[in-house]
Amino acid sequence: MTAFVLPAPPTPSVAVAGSSERFAVRRIFCVGRNYAAHIREFGNDERDPPFFFTKPADAVADSGATVPYPPLTTNLHHEIELVAAIGKPGFRIPRAQALDHVWGYAVGIDLTRRDLQDEAKKAARPWDWSKAFDRSAPCGPLVPAQKSGHPSQGRIWLAVDGKVRQDADLAELIWPISDIVSICSEGMELQPGDLIFTGTPAGVGAVKPGETMTGGVDGIGTIEVTIGPPNR
Ligand code: MN
Repeated sequence: MTAFVLPAPPTPSVAVAGSSERFAVRRIFCVGRNYAAHIREFGNDERDPPFFFTKPADAVADSGATVPYPPLTTNLHHEIELVAAIGKPGFRIPRAQALDHVWGYAVGIDLTRRDLQDEAKKAARPWDWSKAFDRSAPCGPLVPAQKSGHPSQGRIWLAVDGKVRQDADLAELIWPISDIVSICSEGMELQPGDLIFTGTPAGVGAVKPGETMTGGVDGIGTIEVTIGPPNR
């Protein structure tokens, strides 16, 4: 057994619907663009291939959490996303087999410091500081694919204090889940515990301290996250 000079950090994890067991998180991959209307609102070409960025595994937060308003931003944005959880390793997974690698699905929110992202885009700098901050990846309970099936359509939505901001259908995904898993596995050998945030539809916007985001994907579940005051 390996001896560590400091205690090993806790294993980040997300809840599993209807179970006391949790899903240990290894890495978090996120798709940059995947709904035509959201791409149009940012002035990009919807035919571009998908690209990925990452967040630390310990950026996850459970549904029901209060996430402190993060530092360095005055424009924190919500992005509701379907999350696919990988259950089986794979490198260069053929599209026809890609769904066999998905253990389950959840509803997640890709929290984004939009002002920092805008600056990074302008300066051609990395996105990490805009995307990969503490608790930037709230993720609701995972539903095993054996129960939910592999969703290809159904409403995906997010409301802030009850007002619907994002409202779309998974059928609008430019790259369906099988393509995303396959394409992601061309760049990284996927491993059990990896989460893939599959992109957000149109309607992203700012969320402030004291506001509560609720969201859901038909057939998968819901998530509720409140933004708290900044940590001092
Ligand atoms: Mn996103």
